[in-house]
Amino acid sequence: MADVTKFISGIANFQQQHFGENPELASTLLSGQKPQALLIGCCDSRVDPALLTDSAPGDLFILRNIANLVPPYSKSDDYHGVSSSIEYAVCFLEVSDIIVLGHSNCGGIGALMDSAKGEKVGEFIGKWVSIAASARDKVLTEMPQEEKEKQTRACEKEAILVSLKNLMTFPWVKERVAKGQLSVHGWYYNMGTGQLRYYNPLTGEFEILVERYSPGQKTTEEEQAITEK
Ligand SMILES: [Zn+2]
Repeated sequence: MADVTKFISGIANFQQQHFGENPELASTLLSGQKPQALLIGCCDSRVDPALLTDSAPGDLFILRNIANLVPPYSKSDDYHGVSSSIEYAVCFLEVSDIIVLGHSNCGGIGALMDSAKGEKVGEFIGKWVSIAASARDKVLTEMPQEEKEKQTRACEKEAILVSLKNLMTFPWVKERVAKGQLSVHGWYYNMGTGQLRYYNPLTGEFEILVERYSPGQKTTEEEQAITEK
């Protein structure tokens, strides 16, 4: 069995960092949560939303799934884990913002691209990532000759737009956005450069929100050429 000591000592460090010099925070959090935003991110171990945004306990209501996808609103008699999380954040916690955080080198989106070749991906994963099949098809139609890596980077961004569109199929999301009570954001994190982009609906582009890592981080020209697209 692998040694989990580092996770145990990590919890001690976490307690010291967040509550050691601010013991009042614990009692404040006990009385309830009032996060500003719902963040929908990928399960990928390299893209932890709380770490990335340097958030404290209580700041973010986080929903993670393969490829940070939002399915369309459905009244079917299934288990709606994602939809119930969105419902709780929007209707009960009344968050003011929803952030869909996509990322580069996403294995889920890679699986979605592979499924175009008829490859069966897992027992559940293939069906799940097919939520963004329209994103994959758009990329393959618009850039059929490009390298797979470039297509996948493009699909990662297109899939964010699918999730943003699907969010608006939830009537209580649409209603709150129309009233100006709720804002939705599409973010894309490049783990190679550390750069964060956001989708600007006015330009239809993912524009730079936060520049890359501080000096010292290596970024090849080739990587830049792929990721800047
Ligand atoms: Zn991912």
